[in-house]
Amino acid sequence: MLLGIIILFLLQFFRMKVLVGGLTGSLAIWSLNLMDVFAYLETLAASKTFTFQALLAVLPVIGIYLIFGRAFCGWVCPMDFLFGLVSKIESRQLPAGAIHESPLQNISHNIGYGAAAALLVISGLLGVPSFTRYLSHLTNFFTLINSSVYFALDLPADSSVLLFSGFVIFSLLFLEYFFPRLWCKVLCPLGKTYGLFNKISLIKLKFSEGDCGECNLCEQVCYMDVKMTHYLDQPGLRDTNCIYCGRCIEACGTKGKLVRIGFGRGERPFARIRR
Ligand code: SF4
Ligand code: SF4
Repeated sequence: MLLGIIILFLLQFFRMKVLVGGLTGSLAIWSLNLMDVFAYLETLAASKTFTFQALLAVLPVIGIYLIFGRAFCGWVCPMDFLFGLVSKIESRQLPAGAIHESPLQNISHNIGYGAAAALLVISGLLGVPSFTRYLSHLTNFFTLINSSVYFALDLPADSSVLLFSGFVIFSLLFLEYFFPRLWCKVLCPLGKTYGLFNKISLIKLKFSEGDCGECNLCEQVCYMDVKMTHYLDQPGLRDTNCIYCGRCIEACGTKGKLVRIGFGRGERPFARIRR
């Protein structure tokens, strides 16, 4: 899906304006303006001005998250893809489950909420949506693509912009190399915001009736550190860190019979553990 979005984005260089902007502050699909939820909050804090135009841009995005929860992280965000490439570097390859033994694994996942709140305060104080404009991986990823295309086509481009965006993305990849998924699990303000929608979204991990063999394979493959077995007594899984990547479903020996991604209500009690 990411590749499709990048291709739609690149069409603007061939005078076909399907997708303009980026995946953060402002995204235009034909004549429809869209705005990321965290970018909206930051812009509101920075400008201290409510506008219907911005509200109309963020509402469709909220609607998408109400349906798909944090699936953006698992299916659209370029960093998920790039972090996946980092994990393939030979010196970085970890045995199954070892990602949970990496340094800082016990750090509270709630730190990210504090960081997101701090960014909103900073934006309010500076009068600038600071993360969205300068630090966001989404902003910088698309700036990097944009600037690279400008250079490749020999169009006027600012090399300092290219270097800054490259530096931000490289820093995240560097962090990923030493602390796998720390950014996504704990720090990313966008992921933290999207994760809140997991609590009420239509999408969720559903459990069918059946026996769980307690092999723990689902937790071992989950790089977002979702403790699926903690939800055993609950009707379904609604964890703010789940990105609906489906790795746990693939890993489960029942191949989708016990755990599956589903929409809507109709939850059943979770599978019993075989003792
Ligand atoms: S947590 Fe942030 S960086 Fe990670 S996949 Fe989600 S939006 Fe992308
Ligand atoms: S492996 Fe399963 S629990 Fe973990 S993020 Fe992916 S879908 Fe969610």
